[in-house]
Amino acid sequence: MVHLTGKESSMVRHEGGCHCGAVRFQVVAPHSLTVRDCSCSLCVKKQNKHFIVPFSQFKLLKGHDSLTTYSFNTHAAKHNFCSTCGVQPFFIPSTDQSGYGIAPHCLDDGTVKKIKYEKCEGKKKQEKEVKAKK
Ligand SMILES: [Zn+2]
Repeated sequence: MVHLTGKESSMVRHEGGCHCGAVRFQVVAPHSLTVRDCSCSLCVKKQNKHFIVPFSQFKLLKGHDSLTTYSFNTHAAKHNFCSTCGVQPFFIPSTDQSGYGIAPHCLDDGTVKKIKYEKCEGKKKQEKEVKAKK
């Protein structure tokens, strides 16, 4: 259940996609985004910054067949990316499985007012999971 009360006026429909245009999506999220700068091994290599939207606020417009999924470690996270251009516009993060992680840099111009970055301790969580598996 998504509660928009109070923040409703600042919610907006963003559209975005991969580089080649095969994958397109729509998300309902605030004008001003709080974006996670994750420290897990994959996010560091990909320079993956993302904000979370609940599954109900995400809609894949096209490109289902173009998406390839990479997963590792616990396989909780599903790193979707376009099989043609390699861009990852959204994915399911291991740190928060209540929705999609959306790449703000894959959104079309015009709907994002402000981006605030915050650190996400994906690395610590990852290390814990690796230890638990042993
Ligand atoms: Zn593409």
